[in-house]
Amino acid sequence: MIDAKKLIKEYSLTPNKALGQNFLVDENALMQIVGFSRCEGAEVLEIGPGLGTLTNELAGRAKNVVAVEIDKRMCELLKRTLSGHKNTHIINGDILKLKNDELTSLFSGEFIVAANLPYYITSQTAMKFIDSDLPIKHMVLMMQQEAAAHFIAGVKEKCYTPVSVISNRYFEMDEALRLSPASYYPAPAVNSSVLVFKRKDAPYDKGLSRLIKAAFSMRRKTLKNNLSAILPKASVDEIILNAGLAPVSRAEELTSDDFVRLTESARLILGADAI
Ligand code: SAM
Repeated sequence: MIDAKKLIKEYSLTPNKALGQNFLVDENALMQIVGFSRCEGAEVLEIGPGLGTLTNELAGRAKNVVAVEIDKRMCELLKRTLSGHKNTHIINGDILKLKNDELTSLFSGEFIVAANLPYYITSQTAMKFIDSDLPIKHMVLMMQQEAAAHFIAGVKEKCYTPVSVISNRYFEMDEALRLSPASYYPAPAVNSSVLVFKRKDAPYDKGLSRLIKAAFSMRRKTLKNNLSAILPKASVDEIILNAGLAPVSRAEELTSDDFVRLTESARLILGADAI
Protein backbone atom coordinates (compact mmCIF):
# COMPACT_ATOMS: atom_id res chain seq x y z
CA MET A 1 0.00 0.00 0.00
CA ILE A 2 1.20 3.53 -0.79
CA ASP A 3 2.28 5.13 2.48
CA ALA A 4 0.41 8.46 2.47
CA LYS A 5 2.03 9.83 5.63
CA LYS A 6 5.53 9.06 4.30
CA LEU A 7 4.80 10.72 0.93
CA ILE A 8 3.40 13.83 2.60
CA LYS A 9 6.59 14.13 4.66
CA GLU A 10 8.95 13.30 1.82
CA TYR A 11 7.43 15.88 -0.54
CA SER A 12 6.70 18.46 2.23
CA LEU A 13 3.02 18.55 1.27
CA THR A 14 0.41 20.23 3.44
CA PRO A 15 -2.99 18.52 3.02
CA ASN A 16 -5.50 21.09 1.80
CA LYS A 17 -8.50 21.00 4.13
CA ALA A 18 -10.64 23.08 1.77
CA LEU A 19 -10.23 20.39 -0.91
CA GLY A 20 -11.26 17.65 1.52
CA GLN A 21 -7.81 16.07 1.56
CA ASN A 22 -8.17 13.30 4.13
CA PHE A 23 -6.12 10.43 2.77
CA LEU A 24 -6.94 6.78 3.36
CA VAL A 25 -4.30 5.08 5.54
CA ASP A 26 -6.19 1.92 6.51
CA GLU A 27 -4.91 -1.01 4.46
CA ASN A 28 -7.67 -3.37 5.52
CA ALA A 29 -10.33 -0.86 4.43
CA LEU A 30 -8.45 -0.16 1.20
CA MET A 31 -8.40 -3.82 0.22
CA GLN A 32 -12.11 -4.21 1.02
CA ILE A 33 -12.93 -1.18 -1.13
CA VAL A 34 -10.88 -2.60 -3.99
CA GLY A 35 -12.86 -5.84 -3.60
CA PHE A 36 -16.19 -3.98 -3.70
CA SER A 37 -15.10 -2.22 -6.90
CA ARG A 38 -14.97 -5.53 -8.87
CA CYS A 39 -12.63 -3.71 -11.23
CA GLU A 40 -10.71 -6.67 -12.72
CA GLY A 41 -10.30 -6.05 -16.45
CA ALA A 42 -12.76 -3.11 -16.35
CA GLU A 43 -12.51 0.58 -17.15
CA VAL A 44 -12.49 2.75 -14.04
CA LEU A 45 -12.99 6.42 -13.27
CA GLU A 46 -11.50 7.54 -9.98
CA ILE A 47 -12.53 10.91 -8.56
CA GLY A 48 -9.90 12.65 -6.43
CA PRO A 49 -6.99 10.17 -6.45
CA GLY A 50 -4.95 12.34 -4.07
CA LEU A 51 -1.70 10.53 -3.34
CA GLY A 52 -2.76 7.52 -5.40
CA THR A 53 -3.43 5.00 -2.63
CA LEU A 54 -6.60 3.63 -4.21
CA THR A 55 -5.47 4.39 -7.79
CA ASN A 56 -2.40 2.18 -7.38
CA GLU A 57 -4.53 -0.83 -6.37
CA LEU A 58 -7.16 -0.21 -9.06
CA ALA A 59 -4.50 0.20 -11.76
CA GLY A 60 -2.99 -3.18 -10.86
CA ARG A 61 -6.31 -4.91 -11.57
CA ALA A 62 -8.33 -2.82 -14.03
CA LYS A 63 -8.00 -2.56 -17.80
CA ASN A 64 -7.44 1.17 -17.42
CA VAL A 65 -7.98 3.91 -14.84
CA VAL A 66 -8.78 7.55 -15.51
CA ALA A 67 -8.23 9.64 -12.38
CA VAL A 68 -9.45 13.24 -12.12
CA GLU A 69 -7.69 15.35 -9.50
CA ILE A 70 -8.12 19.09 -8.95
CA ASP A 71 -4.85 19.66 -7.07
CA LYS A 72 -1.90 20.20 -9.41
CA ARG A 73 0.61 19.22 -6.69
CA MET A 74 -1.07 15.81 -6.37
CA CYS A 75 -1.10 15.35 -10.16
CA GLU A 76 2.64 15.95 -10.38
CA LEU A 77 3.27 13.48 -7.58
CA LEU A 78 0.86 10.91 -9.09
CA LYS A 79 2.70 10.96 -12.40
CA ARG A 80 5.81 9.86 -10.51
CA THR A 81 4.29 7.36 -8.07
CA LEU A 82 2.09 5.73 -10.71
CA SER A 83 4.66 5.78 -13.52
CA GLY A 84 4.78 1.96 -13.43
CA HIS A 85 1.10 1.76 -14.44
CA LYS A 86 0.88 2.52 -18.14
CA ASN A 87 -2.89 1.96 -18.05
CA THR A 88 -3.46 5.03 -15.85
CA HIS A 89 -4.37 8.47 -17.13
CA ILE A 90 -4.27 11.42 -14.71
CA ILE A 91 -6.37 14.46 -15.54
CA ASN A 92 -5.78 17.69 -13.66
CA GLY A 93 -9.28 19.14 -13.40
CA ASP A 94 -12.48 19.70 -11.48
CA ILE A 95 -14.77 16.67 -11.72
CA LEU A 96 -17.84 18.93 -11.55
CA LYS A 97 -16.70 20.89 -14.60
CA LEU A 98 -16.10 17.85 -16.81
CA LYS A 99 -19.00 17.51 -19.23
CA ASN A 100 -20.71 14.14 -19.59
CA ASP A 101 -19.69 13.74 -23.24
CA GLU A 102 -16.07 14.49 -22.27
CA LEU A 103 -16.29 11.80 -19.59
CA THR A 104 -17.84 9.28 -21.97
CA SER A 105 -15.12 9.90 -24.53
CA LEU A 106 -12.48 8.77 -22.02
CA PHE A 107 -13.79 5.20 -22.07
CA SER A 108 -14.66 2.64 -24.72
CA GLY A 109 -18.05 1.84 -23.12
CA GLU A 110 -19.33 1.10 -19.61
CA PHE A 111 -17.14 2.17 -16.72
CA ILE A 112 -16.94 1.83 -12.95
CA VAL A 113 -16.70 4.82 -10.61
CA ALA A 114 -14.57 4.59 -7.47
CA ALA A 115 -13.83 7.42 -5.07
CA ASN A 116 -13.05 8.64 -1.62
CA LEU A 117 -15.14 11.75 -2.26
CA PRO A 118 -14.06 15.20 -1.09
CA TYR A 119 -16.58 16.04 1.65
CA TYR A 120 -17.38 19.57 0.44
CA ILE A 121 -18.95 18.34 -2.83
CA THR A 122 -20.06 14.81 -1.89
CA SER A 123 -23.73 14.94 -2.93
CA GLN A 124 -23.15 17.14 -5.95
CA THR A 125 -20.45 14.82 -7.26
CA ALA A 126 -22.35 11.60 -6.61
CA MET A 127 -25.51 13.05 -8.21
CA LYS A 128 -23.56 14.08 -11.30
CA PHE A 129 -23.19 10.33 -11.94
CA ILE A 130 -26.46 9.02 -10.49
CA ASP A 131 -28.77 11.57 -12.13
CA SER A 132 -27.35 11.04 -15.61
CA ASP A 133 -27.34 8.75 -18.61
CA LEU A 134 -23.62 8.01 -18.23
CA PRO A 135 -22.87 4.32 -18.93
CA ILE A 136 -21.95 3.41 -15.35
CA LYS A 137 -21.69 -0.25 -14.42
CA HIS A 138 -21.52 0.29 -10.67
CA MET A 139 -19.93 2.67 -8.17
CA VAL A 140 -18.05 2.44 -4.88
CA LEU A 141 -18.14 5.76 -3.05
CA MET A 142 -16.61 6.64 0.30
CA MET A 143 -18.29 9.58 2.01
CA GLN A 144 -19.28 11.11 5.33
CA GLN A 145 -21.83 8.95 7.17
CA GLU A 146 -24.30 11.89 7.30
CA ALA A 147 -24.13 12.26 3.51
CA ALA A 148 -24.52 8.50 3.00
CA ALA A 149 -27.75 8.59 5.04
CA HIS A 150 -29.39 10.74 2.33
CA PHE A 151 -28.69 8.22 -0.43
CA ILE A 152 -30.00 5.19 1.45
CA ALA A 153 -32.92 6.86 3.30
CA GLY A 154 -36.34 5.21 2.92
CA VAL A 155 -39.79 6.79 2.59
CA LYS A 156 -40.77 9.10 5.49
CA GLU A 157 -37.28 8.99 7.02
CA LYS A 158 -35.77 12.31 8.07
CA CYS A 159 -33.08 12.22 5.38
CA TYR A 160 -35.47 11.23 2.56
CA THR A 161 -34.88 13.80 -0.20
CA PRO A 162 -34.70 13.90 -4.04
CA VAL A 163 -31.19 12.41 -3.65
CA SER A 164 -32.73 9.29 -2.02
CA VAL A 165 -35.54 8.91 -4.57
CA ILE A 166 -33.37 9.41 -7.65
CA SER A 167 -30.58 7.14 -6.34
CA ASN A 168 -33.11 4.46 -5.47
CA ARG A 169 -34.63 4.59 -8.95
CA TYR A 170 -31.35 3.80 -10.70
CA PHE A 171 -29.26 1.92 -8.13
CA GLU A 172 -29.47 -0.69 -5.41
CA MET A 173 -27.42 0.69 -2.56
CA ASP A 174 -25.54 -1.07 0.18
CA GLU A 175 -23.64 0.51 3.05
CA ALA A 176 -20.81 -1.98 2.78
CA LEU A 177 -18.41 -0.53 5.34
CA ARG A 178 -18.20 2.07 8.11
CA LEU A 179 -14.91 3.78 8.87
CA SER A 180 -13.77 5.81 11.85
CA PRO A 181 -11.61 8.96 11.53
CA ALA A 182 -8.55 6.81 12.36
CA SER A 183 -8.71 5.32 8.84
CA TYR A 184 -7.62 8.68 7.37
CA TYR A 185 -4.72 11.10 7.62
CA PRO A 186 -5.26 13.83 8.63
CA ALA A 187 -8.18 12.38 10.64
CA PRO A 188 -11.50 14.08 9.80
CA ALA A 189 -13.94 15.06 12.54
CA VAL A 190 -16.60 12.63 11.27
CA ASN A 191 -17.21 8.95 10.57
CA SER A 192 -17.38 7.68 7.00
CA SER A 193 -19.31 5.07 5.04
CA VAL A 194 -18.56 3.14 1.90
CA LEU A 195 -21.62 2.86 -0.32
CA VAL A 196 -21.81 0.35 -3.15
CA PHE A 197 -24.19 1.40 -5.95
CA LYS A 198 -25.38 -1.52 -8.09
CA ARG A 199 -27.08 -0.50 -11.35
CA LYS A 200 -30.78 -1.33 -11.68
CA ASP A 201 -32.41 -1.96 -15.02
CA ALA A 202 -34.12 1.44 -15.29
CA PRO A 203 -33.59 3.77 -18.26
CA TYR A 204 -32.55 7.32 -17.42
CA ASP A 205 -35.43 9.82 -17.46
CA LYS A 206 -34.58 13.51 -17.09
CA GLY A 207 -38.25 14.49 -16.73
CA LEU A 208 -38.64 12.13 -13.77
CA SER A 209 -35.79 13.91 -11.92
CA ARG A 210 -37.39 17.28 -12.67
CA LEU A 211 -40.72 16.11 -11.27
CA ILE A 212 -39.11 14.62 -8.12
CA LYS A 213 -37.20 17.84 -7.40
CA ALA A 214 -40.34 19.95 -7.91
CA ALA A 215 -42.39 17.69 -5.62
CA PHE A 216 -39.87 18.20 -2.79
CA SER A 217 -39.29 21.90 -3.44
CA MET A 218 -41.40 23.17 -0.51
CA ARG A 219 -41.35 20.62 2.29
CA ARG A 220 -44.55 21.85 3.96
CA LYS A 221 -46.59 22.00 0.78
CA THR A 222 -48.73 19.21 -0.64
CA LEU A 223 -47.87 17.30 -3.80
CA LYS A 224 -50.60 19.24 -5.62
CA ASN A 225 -49.16 22.62 -4.63
CA ASN A 226 -45.59 21.73 -5.49
CA LEU A 227 -46.43 20.15 -8.85
CA SER A 228 -48.53 23.17 -9.82
CA ALA A 229 -45.26 25.07 -10.17
CA ILE A 230 -44.17 22.94 -13.15
CA LEU A 231 -47.43 21.54 -14.56
CA PRO A 232 -50.68 23.29 -15.63
CA LYS A 233 -52.60 23.84 -12.39
CA ALA A 234 -55.94 22.76 -13.87
CA SER A 235 -54.58 19.27 -14.68
CA VAL A 236 -52.61 18.51 -11.53
CA ASP A 237 -55.45 16.83 -9.57
CA GLU A 238 -56.23 14.55 -12.50
CA ILE A 239 -52.53 13.65 -12.99
CA ILE A 240 -52.11 12.76 -9.32
CA LEU A 241 -55.40 10.78 -9.05
CA ASN A 242 -54.64 8.92 -12.28
CA ALA A 243 -51.32 7.81 -10.72
CA GLY A 244 -53.30 6.31 -7.80
CA LEU A 245 -52.14 9.00 -5.36
CA ALA A 246 -53.86 11.66 -3.26
CA PRO A 247 -53.40 15.37 -4.12
CA VAL A 248 -52.91 16.11 -0.40
CA SER A 249 -50.05 13.62 -0.05
CA ARG A 250 -46.50 14.90 0.39
CA ALA A 251 -43.36 14.04 -1.51
CA GLU A 252 -41.70 12.38 1.49
CA GLU A 253 -44.52 9.76 1.54
CA LEU A 254 -43.91 8.62 -2.04
CA THR A 255 -41.63 5.87 -3.33
CA SER A 256 -39.60 6.12 -6.53
CA ASP A 257 -42.23 3.88 -8.21
CA ASP A 258 -44.94 6.41 -7.21
CA PHE A 259 -42.90 9.16 -8.91
CA VAL A 260 -42.50 7.04 -12.03
CA ARG A 261 -46.30 6.58 -12.18
CA LEU A 262 -46.79 10.33 -11.66
CA THR A 263 -44.44 11.12 -14.55
CA GLU A 264 -46.22 8.60 -16.80
CA SER A 265 -49.58 10.05 -15.78
CA ALA A 266 -48.46 13.62 -16.63
CA ARG A 267 -47.30 12.44 -20.07
CA LEU A 268 -50.52 10.51 -20.68
CA ILE A 269 -52.73 13.47 -19.81
CA LEU A 270 -50.66 16.35 -21.19
CA GLY A 271 -48.60 14.68 -23.91
CA ALA A 272 -45.12 13.16 -24.16
CA ASP A 273 -43.36 16.54 -23.82
CA ALA A 274 -45.25 17.52 -20.65
CA ILE A 275 -42.23 16.90 -18.46
N1 SAM B 1 -8.30 9.06 -3.07
C1 SAM B 1 -7.41 9.59 -2.06
C2 SAM B 1 -7.46 8.70 -0.84
O1 SAM B 1 -8.41 7.95 -0.71
O2 SAM B 1 -6.53 8.78 -0.03
C3 SAM B 1 -7.78 11.03 -1.69
C4 SAM B 1 -9.18 11.27 -1.22
S1 SAM B 1 -9.47 12.88 -0.57
C5 SAM B 1 -10.83 12.55 0.50
C6 SAM B 1 -10.30 13.74 -1.88
C7 SAM B 1 -9.45 14.10 -3.08
O3 SAM B 1 -10.28 14.78 -4.04
C8 SAM B 1 -8.30 15.05 -2.79
O4 SAM B 1 -7.12 14.56 -3.38
C9 SAM B 1 -8.72 16.37 -3.42
O5 SAM B 1 -7.64 17.17 -3.86
C10 SAM B 1 -9.58 15.88 -4.58
N2 SAM B 1 -10.58 16.86 -5.03
C11 SAM B 1 -11.21 17.82 -4.31
N3 SAM B 1 -12.08 18.49 -5.06
C12 SAM B 1 -12.03 17.94 -6.31
C13 SAM B 1 -12.71 18.23 -7.54
N4 SAM B 1 -13.63 19.18 -7.62
N5 SAM B 1 -12.39 17.50 -8.63
C14 SAM B 1 -11.44 16.52 -8.56
N6 SAM B 1 -10.77 16.22 -7.43
C15 SAM B 1 -11.07 16.91 -6.31
